[in-house]
Amino acid sequence: MIYDDNNLFARILRKEIPAQLLHEDPSCIAFRDIAPQAPVHFLVVPKRPLPCLADATAEDQAVLGHLLVIAGKICRDLGVAHDGFRTVINSGLRAGQSVFHLHVHVLAGRDLRWPPG
Ligand code: AMP
Repeated sequence: MIYDDNNLFARILRKEIPAQLLHEDPSCIAFRDIAPQAPVHFLVVPKRPLPCLADATAEDQAVLGHLLVIAGKICRDLGVAHDGFRTVINSGLRAGQSVFHLHVHVLAGRDLRWPPG
């Protein structure tokens, strides 16, 4: 998939659109989802311009692992790690991906059903 430089998360990364930042480091940012689906719902977004998980290659391996490490750290910092949290990566239209810059959803603060819808 061709990466669109003007997608929403690219604009948040460039600070053109404000976001409630929870974390930033040289390879990713994390911010609260604007339409939270749980009491805690944030997104961990790589700075690397990767449209979706379906496009990931071996070159993305370290960054993808880093996103999960940061997701866990933020959950510990927010005090929701012990009770449990869920990470979700929607890849592609049928999975519900709407912003084509890869992101990890992190949901916590309520019981989460399985299977997801
Ligand atoms: P997805 O549908 O998996 O691509 O997830 C995109 C997510 O981005 C949705 O959960 C939206 O609620 C969220 N979102 C859209 N606009 C913003 C924004 N300006 N700031 C934070 N999150 C947003």
